[in-house]
Amino acid sequence: MTLPGRGLRLAVVTAARRLAATGMNPGRSGNLSARVAGGFVVTPSGAAYETLHPDDLVHVDLDGSSGDGQRTPSSEWRLHRDIYARHIEAGAVVHTHSPYATTLACLHRAIPAFHYEVAFAGGADIRCAPYATFGTQELSDAALEALAGRRACLLGNHGAVAYGETLDAAVDLADKVEALARLYWQALQLGEPRLLDAAEMARVLERFAGYGKEPRG
Ligand SMILES: [Zn+2]
Repeated sequence: MTLPGRGLRLAVVTAARRLAATGMNPGRSGNLSARVAGGFVVTPSGAAYETLHPDDLVHVDLDGSSGDGQRTPSSEWRLHRDIYARHIEAGAVVHTHSPYATTLACLHRAIPAFHYEVAFAGGADIRCAPYATFGTQELSDAALEALAGRRACLLGNHGAVAYGETLDAAVDLADKVEALARLYWQALQLGEPRLLDAAEMARVLERFAGYGKEPRG
């Protein structure tokens, strides 16, 4: 992200309102952040996205410290911090309890290659991390393992997390994960979806990379 502080905070608020408007954070669940020099700005704990103000966002350093005079950062700040530390390309992180992704997460059911768009998350499936208590280092560690080679994963008995180079990319991917979770769930109502094989998913991933960005196909 290259926006200066104020512009970036406004962009985070705009992205938060977009998530709220599409039902991605029921009951004030979830949180999002964007990288800044030396750290990130993250939504505060228990925030209603509809009334979020740019000044409500909390600046957290990569060492986990947040300055005085700020609101309490989201309880999942460790998850955000660790994704920025591990994935240098991450410019924004979106954590949701979106309904369909969370439904699958409650079953500890990864999203397999039932549709080629699973590759939007970076691989041949979207993994589900094992359960760990919210806000803990254990949860962050489990998420980072499930994110190996991926930009999104489900979090067991909890929700989902996605990151991208930009806020738009991170929100788009969170939306895509929710849409794929819904489609997978729907397909399961009628039977066992036919999965694409590893060779085909490798071909899809190659085509995605070849376009330099996600195709619209
Ligand atoms: Zn959560």
